[in-house]
Amino acid sequence: METILLLTHADAGKPALEALAAAKELGGTLVIGLFGADVQAAANQMAGCGATKFLGVTGADFAQARYVSDAAAAEVLVKAAQATIVIVPATSRMNRIIAGVAHRCGGRADTHVTGIAATSITRWYYRQRMEAAQSRAHRPWFIALDPGCHAPDTSAPGTATVESVAVTLPDLRTAVTGVKAPEASQQTIRPDAKVLLVAGAGWTKKQPDGQSHVPEAAELILGFLSATKASLGSSKSLVDLSGEGQAVLPFMSHLNQIGQTGATPRHLKGLSTCCHGEEPHAVGWRFITERRAINLDPNCGWARGKADVLYVADAFAVMRKVNSLLAEK
Ligand SMILES: Cc1cc2nc3c(=O)[nH]c(=O)nc-3n(C[C@H](O)[C@H](O)[C@H](O)COP(=O)(O)OP(=O)(O)OC[C@H]3O[C@@H](n4cnc5c(N)ncnc54)[C@H](O)[C@@H]3O)c2cc1C
Repeated sequence: METILLLTHADAGKPALEALAAAKELGGTLVIGLFGADVQAAANQMAGCGATKFLGVTGADFAQARYVSDAAAAEVLVKAAQATIVIVPATSRMNRIIAGVAHRCGGRADTHVTGIAATSITRWYYRQRMEAAQSRAHRPWFIALDPGCHAPDTSAPGTATVESVAVTLPDLRTAVTGVKAPEASQQTIRPDAKVLLVAGAGWTKKQPDGQSHVPEAAELILGFLSATKASLGSSKSLVDLSGEGQAVLPFMSHLNQIGQTGATPRHLKGLSTCCHGEEPHAVGWRFITERRAINLDPNCGWARGKADVLYVADAFAVMRKVNSLLAEK
C-alpha cells in the first residue's frame, strides 16, 4: 500500500485543502506534513481528514518562503513520513522547491497536474491544447496539483497532535524584506470569483461616432467588477497597448492577460467583451466552464464554436444595461 504525504506550507489555504481532498481519494495511508512559523492551526483544520499522523517543522525560519529553508523542511518531512507518493498544492512556494526536494529524496516530480487517480495523473500540454494521462512506477512520486482542479476537503476541524520533526539548517543567506506587487492586479485578479470578465482591445478602438471612449470603458468595466466581484482578464492586445503609448485602461496590467502567452484561469463563467476570440487568446479559456462573448462582429472568432453564447451587440450598450440591472438588485 502507498504511503501518501500531503506536504504543504501551513499558510497555503484553499489549495492545500484541495490537494488534501485529492490525496484522500488515493486510499493509501495518509500522512500530513506541514511547515511554517506555526503549523497547529492548519493541522487542526485538517484534524478530521483521517490522516494517521501529522508531522510538523516549525519555527521563525520557516515563516518566509525561501528555497533553502523550505526545501530542508520538505525533505525531512518526506523522509520522516517514508512517503511513496507526495501530493503538494501547486502554490508558488511549493512549485519552487518540489523539483529540488524530489531530487534530494531520489524521487521524481510532476507539476501542473490537473487530476490524480490511483495509478495515473492528468495534465495538459502545449498551452492546454492536449491532455495526457501519465503514470510512474518510480517512488517517491511528487505530484503538484494545480489550484482550482479539485473541490477542497471539508472534514470537520478538531485538535490534531503534531509530531515535531527536527531540521538542521545551513547558513541562511536570504531574507525576504517585503512584497512588491502591482496594485492594479491585486484589486482585479480574483482567482476564486465565479465570473471572469475579459476585456479586449475593442474597448479602446474608435466607435461608430468616430471617437474612442476609454474613460467610459473603464467606468463600465470597473462598475461590473465592483457589483459582481468578478475577476478581470484581458486580451494581449489590450495589455500591450500601454507599451505602445495609446490610451489604455489604467487598472490593466500584463498579469491580467489570458491566453497562450498569458494565464489559464479557472472560473465557472466567463464573459468576453470587445475581444475578437483569436485562437492564441481563446486557448486560455480551457478551464472556463461556460463562455459568453459580446462582439459587434458576427464573424468573430467566438462565433466559430469558441463561445457557448455570442451576443452580436455593442458591448458599451450591453454592459451599461447589465450594470444598471445589477444596481437595481
Ligand atoms: C504566438 C502568439 C501568442 C499570443 N498569445 C496571446 C495571449 O496569450 N493572449 C491574447 O489575448 N492574445 C494572444 N495573442 C494575440 C492574439 O492572436 C490576438 O491578436 C489578440 O488576442 C487580439 O486581441 P483583441 O481581440 O483584444 O483585439 P482585436 O483583434 O483588435 O479585436 C477587437 C474586437 O473588439 C470588437 N469591438 C470593437 N468595438 C466593440 C464594441 N463596441 N462592442 C463589441 N465589440 C467591439 C471588434 O469587433 C474586434 O473583434 C498571441 C498571438 C501570437 C501570434
